[in-house]
Amino acid sequence: MTALNEFTGACPNCGDKLVEARYDHDNFDVQAWLQDLKNRPSTLWRYHEVLPIYDTDNIISLNEGGTPLIKSRRLAATLGLKHLYLKDERQGPTGSFKDRQATVAISALVEKDIDEVVVASTGNVAIAYSAYGARAGIHLWAFFPQLTPNDKMREAALYGAEIIKTTGNYDQTKQLAASFAKNKDIFLDRGIKSVAAIEAMKTMAYEIAEQLGTEFHDGEKWRAPDWFLQGVSGGMGPIGVGKGFREMLDFGITDSMPKMGLIQSSGCAPMVEAFNRKQRVATPVEESTTIIATLATGTPGRAYEILYDYVEDYGGHFISASDEEAFQAIRVLAQQDGMSVEPATGVTFAGLFKMVREGVIKPDDVVVVNVSGHTLPVETRILGEQWQKLIDLSETPTSPKVPEASLISAVSAMPVQLKRVVVIEDNQAAARLMSRLLEGRENCEVYLAHNGAAGLNIMREIEPDLVITDLMMPDVDGFTVINTMKADDGLKDIPIVVVSAKELTVQEQQFLDNNIDMLLQKGSFLDDSFVEKIISRLN
Ligand SMILES: *Cc1c(COP(=O)(O)O)cnc(C)c1O
Repeated sequence: MTALNEFTGACPNCGDKLVEARYDHDNFDVQAWLQDLKNRPSTLWRYHEVLPIYDTDNIISLNEGGTPLIKSRRLAATLGLKHLYLKDERQGPTGSFKDRQATVAISALVEKDIDEVVVASTGNVAIAYSAYGARAGIHLWAFFPQLTPNDKMREAALYGAEIIKTTGNYDQTKQLAASFAKNKDIFLDRGIKSVAAIEAMKTMAYEIAEQLGTEFHDGEKWRAPDWFLQGVSGGMGPIGVGKGFREMLDFGITDSMPKMGLIQSSGCAPMVEAFNRKQRVATPVEESTTIIATLATGTPGRAYEILYDYVEDYGGHFISASDEEAFQAIRVLAQQDGMSVEPATGVTFAGLFKMVREGVIKPDDVVVVNVSGHTLPVETRILGEQWQKLIDLSETPTSPKVPEASLISAVSAMPVQLKRVVVIEDNQAAARLMSRLLEGRENCEVYLAHNGAAGLNIMREIEPDLVITDLMMPDVDGFTVINTMKADDGLKDIPIVVVSAKELTVQEQQFLDNNIDMLLQKGSFLDDSFVEKIISRLN
């Protein structure tokens, strides 16, 4: 082992540049530390004993870290998940989890007395480094690939960084930045190969374990989730988080390791492709086709091997999602849980939806999603063209015309025939969501029942056009509801849609095939397409 302040950038024995930080914890009293933490401010520096800074006076901070772990309400209900938590990294000082990396890396530069640095970035690293660099008085040269949105580069420019945009991809841009740094003899940020980056990301794991400890054990004990999910480019986040959980397990602070859900954009998914071929070494993607610059690392190198080994050891899943799926997921998350995220984070949620649908993530699992970055600016692609109504006031300069007539005629042009839908669902949040989706769209009247018996009573009273039922409910379950309907002359012809997260046996599947009109897995009815399917049964 080499002391960090004597480290020259590669292992003195083997020359490997990907190194791991170890701490001299012989005299570390973990229990005393846990007690002391309770009185510390909630920035990531509360864990400074496990961070690579010798002197805390060198810390450059903007109160980063300590982001909330928010329990999902409506999205969780939609997906049929009981414990879905959103680690809201959008609340970092520059709006992404790269603030963690910036505070540790820039503080390390201050400790080493370095006042100029070169970084290659798809956007967020450069923004965060520019802000922290500004505070430290460190001059930043930021290199961006072609794909980076102008707004991101402008933000970095605002903090005073030198902005260099290339016409190449991210890997080419990294090479250019490296040779520039070498020629000019300026310090090059080594990204994922730097101790600071991995150690910084690790703090997310400490926070999550502490926060879940409060949720599940009243703060008496910390807890690892069953899953940690993130959209992956270079892999710094999950590698750091994995290391953090490993350390806590070794300290005896937690007693399990999370599985990793690693999601890439299908237009640039070297890790997912290698994983699907069961290969431990990834083949670089030369021509990335995603427009999501943040996730466009075509050459993951050793990072993939580390993540592959993690998944072998502790479990996990690699999966990809398309840009379209990511944009749809952004809308779903914003409209169900009130969080607006950037496209890279949309990829994560699109992957979550798939993993729930495919049964990889189970209803009882404790799932933490890294809500890695904010959607600012909201890209046109996410909302499409029709997101606003323009009211032209130019012809009436004195008294603006209130657009009453057109609005009223639009409203009154609604279809006239009212359809009655009975929704039987014991999860209140899911029931409310379904009724909102239906009532918002078509001329539906929704009747909610929280158990099977109540549902049957309503049906007998109003003779609905459609019944939507869950399967697993206390007392009278969905199967009994269906059997009762089929045996009742007044009810037997009403179309039935089953929405359920239950894993079906062969017999159950057969029973449903013979008796119902449509089966929807929970998690597949996130949006308008659900309503579309339901409506198709109504006409
Ligand atoms: C950097 C970044 C990612 C990918 O992070 P890695 O852990 O380096 O793969 C995902 N989302 C956002 C918002 C990012 O800025």
